[in-house]
Amino acid sequence: MYLKGCNHMVLKSEHITMPSIKQSGSLSSLADRQDVSLSSLTSYARKLDTVAGQANRRVDNKHVEFTESDRPKSASSPKKKRKKKNPIIVNLSGTRYEVIRQMAEKLGFTPSKDDDPNGYLIWNDSFVSAERINELKPFQRINHFPGMGEITRKDCLARNMLKVSKEFPEEYGFIPKSWILPSDYSQLVNYSKDLKSKKKSKTFIIKPSNGAQGHGIQLFKNAEKIPATEHFIVQEYIEKPFLLDGYKFDLRIYVLITSCDPLRVFLFNDGLVRMSTEKYQNPAESNINHMYMHLTNYSVNKHNEYYEKGESVDSGSKRSIAFLNEYLRNKDRDVALMWRNISDMIVKTLLVSMPHLLHAYRMCRPCAPSGSDSVCFEVLGFDVLLDRNLKPWLLEINRSPSFGTDEKIDWDIKSALIENTIKLLNIKVSDKRRNINAQKQEAQKRLYRTGKRPDAPDVSEYEKRRIHFEKRKEELKELLARIKKQSLREDYDNRNMGKFRRIFPTEDKARQEKYVRLMSSIFNIFMSGRAPAMQKEIQRIYKNPLREEDVLDMLHECEEYEKDGKYAGGGKGAARGPKPLQSMPVCQPSPIDDSEEDDDEMTEGSPMSTPMTRRRSAKSRPGSMVREQSEWSEGASSTYNSRPNSGVRSRPPSNMSMSNQSNQRSRSLSRMVTSGKYTSLQRSTVDDGFLTSVVKEREDELSKKTLIALNDMRIKFPGKSDEEAEMILDKLHESWKFHKPRIASYWLVKLDSIKRRKVIDIVRSNVRAVLQRTWRVSDVDNLRIYRIFSRVFSRLLWSHGQGLWNCFSSSNGPAGWETIFSKSTENISESDMNCCRRIVQLCRDCLLIVYQFAAEAKNTSQSTTSHSDTEPSGLGREKPISLVPPNTQTMSQRYSKLYRGEAS
Ligand code: ADP
Repeated sequence: MYLKGCNHMVLKSEHITMPSIKQSGSLSSLADRQDVSLSSLTSYARKLDTVAGQANRRVDNKHVEFTESDRPKSASSPKKKRKKKNPIIVNLSGTRYEVIRQMAEKLGFTPSKDDDPNGYLIWNDSFVSAERINELKPFQRINHFPGMGEITRKDCLARNMLKVSKEFPEEYGFIPKSWILPSDYSQLVNYSKDLKSKKKSKTFIIKPSNGAQGHGIQLFKNAEKIPATEHFIVQEYIEKPFLLDGYKFDLRIYVLITSCDPLRVFLFNDGLVRMSTEKYQNPAESNINHMYMHLTNYSVNKHNEYYEKGESVDSGSKRSIAFLNEYLRNKDRDVALMWRNISDMIVKTLLVSMPHLLHAYRMCRPCAPSGSDSVCFEVLGFDVLLDRNLKPWLLEINRSPSFGTDEKIDWDIKSALIENTIKLLNIKVSDKRRNINAQKQEAQKRLYRTGKRPDAPDVSEYEKRRIHFEKRKEELKELLARIKKQSLREDYDNRNMGKFRRIFPTEDKARQEKYVRLMSSIFNIFMSGRAPAMQKEIQRIYKNPLREEDVLDMLHECEEYEKDGKYAGGGKGAARGPKPLQSMPVCQPSPIDDSEEDDDEMTEGSPMSTPMTRRRSAKSRPGSMVREQSEWSEGASSTYNSRPNSGVRSRPPSNMSMSNQSNQRSRSLSRMVTSGKYTSLQRSTVDDGFLTSVVKEREDELSKKTLIALNDMRIKFPGKSDEEAEMILDKLHESWKFHKPRIASYWLVKLDSIKRRKVIDIVRSNVRAVLQRTWRVSDVDNLRIYRIFSRVFSRLLWSHGQGLWNCFSSSNGPAGWETIFSKSTENISESDMNCCRRIVQLCRDCLLIVYQFAAEAKNTSQSTTSHSDTEPSGLGREKPISLVPPNTQTMSQRYSKLYRGEAS
């Protein structure tokens, strides 16, 4: 028994008064009182049970009030609760709904006794002022957005919808034709006259502009009889609604918005079906005053003697949406389509609110960076009418939908709704501390920020560039943190959605793009002059959101730039060409073959040397392979590109022995393959189909060569031979049980995303070099095969490195990463796929070698120094980990010479 709930119920029934209980509030607090003995407590409890029973049976307004004792046991905890050390205080003094209090307690929150301004969660039934929202701390959450009135007041909704539907009549055909009185009166009368002249007749419904619960609603057959001076909304009456057992009904659909900057919307997959209590007839002069026939409000119909309290899910005047879905399915109606339409309608309506919401929210929270946790959320109640074709019509939106639980069905639906809502808010006790820390950090940043501004007169060009560069890096880091946070939020939402389903942003790409276009246009309609900046922002946030990898790339670029000293003047003096991996071990001797092999051996027509030969040909020489290959590629690209007519018909570099015509044809085809399109000249002279098949053939051929080159690659362990490196890998696999948890913790926990990326980049940069060599192109980004590889690399970094880690556990059957191609429309050949598999294998080996290298380096440093805080990541140490594709060394050597010659 839950005394607090009973107390509420008893007070409501006003049958008896128990001041002592009213003050104490709960059994445990009663027990604390010395003047109340345990036996008297027990008898109190019994008395209350009896009273609760009486109240349950009490019939009020022809329906029995649903009370605490009817609720599921799990909702009320009879156990004596211990006082929590760090309770999450929630301020529910602004709500009259018991279900909110109960769900908050169920989730472990502690409702504050008074109007505590510091509650983590604040729930108010009524409007919340902008000042209040402005004063909230970032860890607090309140259940209203400023600016929401623009769609929840009937006249505002009508006005805004009218504006948008003029531009997009097709998209916004779900609002009954409306007029706002008194301003639109003459238009209404003209419309009515027009109808008469066409011998058509329509019924109109009028509603007070700011009315609710059916107050002041009337129906008119003749629009000219509608009073001209009152503030009313007039709508065309939907005359042919879908009927349930002959009764009209509407739907109360619950929608949760957890943030407006950016917009995140969830649809609750249950709700109420509210039926009228008099059988429906087409509106006529004889029945237009029958409110129990034409209105479906509970607040109206509960007064009818025929109002039926539901005894089961399929009877009564209030039913569940789950019941309706089943009912419609049994009648062979397309329920999925109906819900797609409803969800579409909800999103489009919220898009109309966006310019107002965003503006109001940003005004209230001027210091909150875009994408930070929203202090506002809102549960909206959408009232929707279905016509006989099951087309949804939006009647109105309630910003404070009733959470009253008069009947069991109310409790069942609303308790789940509130519980799921609070869960999705992800309120944690640590939020407050995190907030304080963030504030401290921000203050520190301000304190240590250099006073110099880049535009100050005494700032040198160098300094200006440096400041600008630092700022850019700082911004990227913040962006990265935001993206990470966003992806964590996404993960959390997906795990805690309960009965909610996210409808914006949607997973459906085409739909999402449509919404983004619509949102952009809506900003244009409402903001006119200020829209372009907003539109750019919309595209950035909703259409092409930057991914973690993108920002890491930018950051990486920045770091390389910084390392090359390009901001110090760039160009001449700055280091060129190679892109060393930042914080990777620096150069050390690495193997190379001094003999000048013909590079064509690896490319066109000549027999391939065996992998063993290649591996054996690798000898040590100074310089890192990673560096070498980049040098080669850049050298090659500059040599290649500097040649005039380097397009399809260009001659190969003279130092490459392209001996015969077929080689030349291959090369030009490679170019065509690379660019992905043919020139108009080619199109006019060569048959398209033929060309496509030749290109395809050539692609397959090159893909196979790529596979051979990839198979030849080995991960180089600094200072060790290939054989030794292989042995290390074998040993790691042999004692996998021992190493597995260590490697997992190293990869998934110890390394941050930048370092994880660097491990993958060791393989990536070498794969790029192989492609450059095999496909004879400098810019591999445009290669179809490289785009495929990129997807694999991204997948391996996916979910904070989980992607690669999964590859260690799926030894049998298709690996998890392969699913990225299962739905792909792209034609991926078997050898493309094998290349990808080899790349995954190389990445796995690379992780193992880096891990082993780090472990050995740590051991060495521990034995030589007493410092125990040596960086064990292996990615900031002195020796490089690299890949060894032996042939590349020969080529890289040649091209690095070339390149150096050019640069000097
Ligand atoms: P209130 O906020 O006062 O409840 P609503 O707009 O929700 O006002 O309308 C009350 C009821 O009137 C609805 O539940 C619905 O049954 C009926 N109704 C409202 N507008 C229309 C309409 N355009 N066509 C048919 N029925 C309507």
